[in-house]
Amino acid sequence: HCGYAAIIGRPNVGKSTLLNHLIGQKLSITSRKPQTTRHRLLGIKTQDNTQFIYVDTPGLHQRQGHAMNRYLNRAAISSLVGVDVVVWVVEASKWTQEDDHVLSILRDHSSNIPVILAINKVDQLADRELLLPFIAQLQDKYSFSDIFPISALRGINLSELEQKIATYL
Ligand code: GDP
Ligand code: MG
Repeated sequence: HCGYAAIIGRPNVGKSTLLNHLIGQKLSITSRKPQTTRHRLLGIKTQDNTQFIYVDTPGLHQRQGHAMNRYLNRAAISSLVGVDVVVWVVEASKWTQEDDHVLSILRDHSSNIPVILAINKVDQLADRELLLPFIAQLQDKYSFSDIFPISALRGINLSELEQKIATYL
């Protein structure tokens, strides 16, 4: 297996932290899949017979309006083209307008791509029961292929997330 996983989400949700954990130290670039300049590679990991290619989605946090933001939005949207799976990272205890903006882009532009919802920073939750209504709200907004509560910082549920990503590559 070899494929592209796009890690998306507004700033500060923990995308870089997640990638650092997922990629670890095992870096190699042996992909023969066509790679386009739309994709900014964040890292490649080869494990057993699976190659994970993580890509960035530039400017997804920008809002519409200003010409530069529209340009960045187009870049973000085109970076979704051709990926095998999207991992959308949100924060367990903090929802902002920028999350809504990411959601609207997913609604409009990820019709055939499976979207895994990664609810990060669960280590910060005082009460894990709070996750249940949060998950229910999100399921009303979008049909996710999978939902994983994780902590990128503490390494909670990351191998399960990675195994699920691998099934889409
Ligand atoms: P990015 O902007 O989405 O790439 O977010 P970063 O990976 O830079 O993380 C933003 C901040 O959130 C940093 O201070 C991280 O240490 C923190 N952070 C990331 N993941 C977690 C987590 O699982 N738990 C907690 N408590 N903090 C986290
Ligand atoms: Mg980052």
